[in-house]
Amino acid sequence: MSDLEIRQFMCLNDNFGVLVYDPASEATLAVDVPDAETVDGELEKAGWTLSHILITHHHADHVQGLKALKDKTGAQVIGPVKSAAQIGDIDESVDDGATVSFGDYEIRCIATPGHTLDQISYWIPEGGVAFTGDTLFAMGCGRLFESSPAIMWSSMQKLMNQLPPETRIYCGHEYTFANARFAVSVDPANSALADRLVEVERLRAADKPTLPTTMALELQTNPFLRVEDAGIRETVGLVGAPAAEVFAEVRRRKDSF
Ligand code: ZN
Ligand code: FE
Repeated sequence: MSDLEIRQFMCLNDNFGVLVYDPASEATLAVDVPDAETVDGELEKAGWTLSHILITHHHADHVQGLKALKDKTGAQVIGPVKSAAQIGDIDESVDDGATVSFGDYEIRCIATPGHTLDQISYWIPEGGVAFTGDTLFAMGCGRLFESSPAIMWSSMQKLMNQLPPETRIYCGHEYTFANARFAVSVDPANSALADRLVEVERLRAADKPTLPTTMALELQTNPFLRVEDAGIRETVGLVGAPAAEVFAEVRRRKDSF
């Protein structure tokens, strides 16, 4: 078991801020900066000193606090090579397969284009934790603003192939309830999904976060990972179709759900 300590908190409307602290080295990282003040306030509450900032993609709701937080903390900023110039303030631009040290831990960068072309997911294998930004959500995936369904599907496959089932996954947004309602519409016979919808409703009614999730739970309940499932294929009328085609149809349905 890893000894990383993780704080997750809401920023803006439905963005998550995440801080990760390594007690041995006292290194602390933030994943994205939706709002510098909120992230800084959480650092203060925890008594942690920020050393690293990981940026998942260039959208404003993930980077708009970056400059202010970097100026205040002097943290080293790691971000996607494809949008490094656009984002600015990036010290180390990374692409698929890059690794970054964090205390004694290693952070692995997995390029997961789809929502945006630049998107990087970050995985700390020894910590058993990954940060998928707006690529993989609980029971969902990001909207395709900059690429095709085929590209997003290959990113989903990459995450399924690389992240062990027990990996805890933190995502960019609290979209879980809406995602669960949609998931049931394409995967109505899935009892694990039905159970999860009830649990998510309970958490949201109590104003509690539904994340992190795990890869194992997503494999059971996320329709965007389950496009080989016979029930989903039947529901969307694509029984013998290639997986990428089923993925595209599920994504299309979600866009107009
Ligand atoms: Zn985004
Ligand atoms: Fe976002």
